[in-house]
Amino acid sequence: MATRREIVDPEFPDMQDSEYCVVRIRRADLAQLEKHLFQRYPYREWGTFFRFGFRRTSWGIAICFVDGLWPQAGELDRQSDLTHFHEDYARRAFHAAANSEGLAVGVIHSHPVGCHVSPSELDDDMDSYFGQEVSSFSNGNPYCSLILERSDRGGLTFSGRVFDRGRWLPVHALISVGQQVDRWQSNLLPIDERIPEPYEESTTDRLQAIMGAPSKERLAKAVVGVIGCSGTGSPAIEVLARAGVGEFILLDPDKLSPSNLERVHGSEYRHLQFEQMPFKVALMRELILSINPNAKITALAGNLLHANAVDEVVRCDLILGCTDSVHGRVALDELSRHYLVPVIDVGVVMDGSSGQVTEQLVNVSWFCPGESCIFCRGAINTDHMNYELMSDAERSTKEQAAADAILRGDEVDQYWKGRPPQLHTVGYLTTMAGSLMAGYVEGILTGCFQMPHVEMQFDIGHPYFGFVESPLRVRNDCNCQQHLGWAGAATPFKNVSLPPHWSQRAVRL
Ligand SMILES: [Zn+2]
Ligand SMILES: [Zn+2]
Repeated sequence: MATRREIVDPEFPDMQDSEYCVVRIRRADLAQLEKHLFQRYPYREWGTFFRFGFRRTSWGIAICFVDGLWPQAGELDRQSDLTHFHEDYARRAFHAAANSEGLAVGVIHSHPVGCHVSPSELDDDMDSYFGQEVSSFSNGNPYCSLILERSDRGGLTFSGRVFDRGRWLPVHALISVGQQVDRWQSNLLPIDERIPEPYEESTTDRLQAIMGAPSKERLAKAVVGVIGCSGTGSPAIEVLARAGVGEFILLDPDKLSPSNLERVHGSEYRHLQFEQMPFKVALMRELILSINPNAKITALAGNLLHANAVDEVVRCDLILGCTDSVHGRVALDELSRHYLVPVIDVGVVMDGSSGQVTEQLVNVSWFCPGESCIFCRGAINTDHMNYELMSDAERSTKEQAAADAILRGDEVDQYWKGRPPQLHTVGYLTTMAGSLMAGYVEGILTGCFQMPHVEMQFDIGHPYFGFVESPLRVRNDCNCQQHLGWAGAATPFKNVSLPPHWSQRAVRL
């Protein structure tokens, strides 16, 4: 509902400024939404109710668009140039809010070209009313209201606010996810002040020459998560820091160990002599700041199964999966679908004996809502995952049971499938795999290029690199497409959760 106005409505409650919201949407959904909202363009607006998943975090609320509760004939007033929701449409939305399986309900409407995205007084009235009603019908779920405008000159602009537990929070960012990941900042936020470059030649001059001038700003405002900061994570971080990525969320539970020096970028001989060796995420922070002192960094010593780690990574543009654990990959795959955060996951496998290297395999996967999941791909050894999540006591009980079974002459497998093999990784291969992923991140964020396959494997010791790509379909018996963007409401459908014998929180360093 757009009318120009200069003075802020004194009736509308103040926004909280300590917390904010981020709205995520799949690219295909955004295209459908825009088609709907801008159907009466350029002079008239249009709107819809929608359902969303949400997660309350320490910084605010992550919101994921699930689907439109598209208006049916007569539910919006076609005579009016403004968006006017008829009572029966509002009732249908309130009903959906009440029967939502944990999803919440909000409103999106367009403003005509040139009318900007500041809420009008009518918008304030509408949001005050819907916010209260939706909240009471849904037993306290948040209500989200977005305004979109698109013009040839300014592209897509938006503003948004969320009513949650009696207060209003601003929406700072809208992120669309798919083969390209775009991020829009709310038009009501002040434009970031550019930090002037100290040198005549930009540090990313050559990158901009190939990826275009807008790539600089896109990478500077990107938030990239890196799960696992060792062999593959550390070179990826170094390359992305050099490319000018503005913000990093780093997660790894481990401290440096002497054998890491061979492959962890940013580690130095002097670190090995410290009384307490540093956490890998602390080393990564040093590495990033040595390249870009203005980068923002959140460093967490922990695991993706920690709820406070998930809180941070759900505001990323995308995530690099550089963990060598099975449960880490399962958690990343679920995160990509439930929270609409795309993931590039990499694995490296080496083998050999007697001075001969026989396997130098790199596996790169793209997890994105709408693509097949890790179980559809048959890429998960659940025995190994269970082993990772077991307590030491469970492991010795199972080992004992297996030993007893052998004495009885019984089948051992039902008790114990053995320890997963120790994976070998060496610096040249992990560095190559990590920097390759960083390249795909730059391509996906800038829209310059995409990953050619959702799952690919190659071995650098084989002719033609022994390249294998897997054409992947969602399996008929898999339910991985059912809870896309459900966020916190998808919790009952997760395949992996934090074992009770682990520490319960990631530690912020
Ligand atoms: Zn409006
Ligand atoms: Zn699946």
